[in-house]
Amino acid sequence: MPGNGNPEIKYTKLFINNEFVDAVSKKKFPTLNPATAEKIVEVAEADKADVDIAVAAARKAFAIGSPWRTLDASARGKLMQKFADLVERDRAYLSELESLDNGKPVGDSDFDIGCAIDTIRYFAGWADKIHGETIPVDGNFMTITRKEPVGVVGSIIPWNYPILMAVWKLGPALTSGCTIVLKPAEQTPLTALYLASLIKEAGFPAGVVNVVPGYGPTAGAALSNHLDVDKVAFTGSTDVGRLIMGAAASSNLKRVTLELGGKSPLVVCADADIAEAAEIAHGAIFNNHGQNCCAGSRTFVEAGIYEKFVAKAKELADARKVGDPFQEGIQQGPQVDEDQFKKILELVDSGKQQGARLVTGGNRFGTKGYFVQPTVFADVKDDMRIAKEEIFGPVQSIFKFDNMDEVIVRANATTYGLAAGIITNDINKALQFAQSVQAGSVWVNCYDAVLPQTPFGGYKQSGQGRELGKEALHEYLETKTITIGLKQKI
Ligand code: NAD
Repeated sequence: MPGNGNPEIKYTKLFINNEFVDAVSKKKFPTLNPATAEKIVEVAEADKADVDIAVAAARKAFAIGSPWRTLDASARGKLMQKFADLVERDRAYLSELESLDNGKPVGDSDFDIGCAIDTIRYFAGWADKIHGETIPVDGNFMTITRKEPVGVVGSIIPWNYPILMAVWKLGPALTSGCTIVLKPAEQTPLTALYLASLIKEAGFPAGVVNVVPGYGPTAGAALSNHLDVDKVAFTGSTDVGRLIMGAAASSNLKRVTLELGGKSPLVVCADADIAEAAEIAHGAIFNNHGQNCCAGSRTFVEAGIYEKFVAKAKELADARKVGDPFQEGIQQGPQVDEDQFKKILELVDSGKQQGARLVTGGNRFGTKGYFVQPTVFADVKDDMRIAKEEIFGPVQSIFKFDNMDEVIVRANATTYGLAAGIITNDINKALQFAQSVQAGSVWVNCYDAVLPQTPFGGYKQSGQGRELGKEALHEYLETKTITIGLKQKI
């Protein structure tokens, strides 16, 4: 699904109160095309002053009696469906814009947008189905609970799935009746701004959604420290997640949800079909160039099939088509920026130096842009850096194991706990693993099946709270208990 590689850039200003505006400082920052390292365009750069204005707009939109607060819940759902329709209408354009700014192949962007549309529609369906309970309390009382929106939400998102991450935040927030200030990643601000134009076109009242592109330590920190933001929803690195929690704690104790990094294990048992297992494991790590928080970055393979599996993994990595994200058939474009590119190559070097067997790849791909060769390491040991640190790149690390008890202990020997997978035809092994592994999502004989209906989030230092599914709604709602004194019980 190639495009012409040159989509028109329609929006480069901040989106506040349903208007595109310059930053107070008039500052701008460049966003680059990672395939060429050249500037695409300059975008207005929000910092604290702009965040203050956007938060005030979101607060006003949330005021009692405001158009948004008084809208019927079902009408909120209809607005969201309209938004989904518009994303669908502009899907081809959005795919190109996403690929230009992020570097992923256009087909991958299109896939992400399909998931984004499904996610908006899923959450739209909840709008008039969120309600409290009547509780049979002791004494002459009647008690009801009301589910109320938490208020103004600051959403800070990463660059790996710019549209999808925006929608993961917008979906549950909007259906719950919250208002939002969204800060896209500085590497990929363009599609969030276009989505903002569709929010306006769909008919959302002014101030319900605001988008403030800018840098983390300025715009991001202003949001997470803000005294008038009721909740911050963050996806990104564990280090920044820690800062966000600290900022929430030292400001107004705003609610916090965090979706952070991972070092997810994928276990391949000897009873599996080797070709099928190698395909699943290949996709688990190489999809989205490895820039995936739940990437299967530790492939554990049972000793009996180890060398055959490694050979198949090499075959698949060697066949992977790397190049221009706008060219037909390309499976892997550039990494998102120079920092990520350098970080990946440095970790690959550490793998070579610490004695992992380099099976294929291990270098830069080409001479221009931020491309990395699909890389496979075998004989990886648990104490190597590539076994412990999140690489966030197209680097498969293959470990050997002898039995289930051992591999479960090793799978859990990480500070992360986002996802895990197992490939086996033995139901007992699958269930033993699924119940023992410390991870928010476990996939059996598949990987990365992240669906709008299912809760998604991390154990341990992979996060706090859940996104997607019914569970996501709780993160955007307060429960109010209303107790009514009665003359007598009836
Ligand atoms: P990051 O955590 O620095 O950035 C994510 C978002 O947080 C961006 O919008 C950024 O502007 C913002 N941010 C940065 N500093 C902030 C601060 N002090 N206060 C508030 N917001 C702040 O991630 P990165 O630097 O782009 O990537 C670094 C590593 O993070 C990657 O190599 C990868 O390991 C991990 N990562 C994980 C995910 C994920 O989906 N879990 C996504 C992107 C990156």
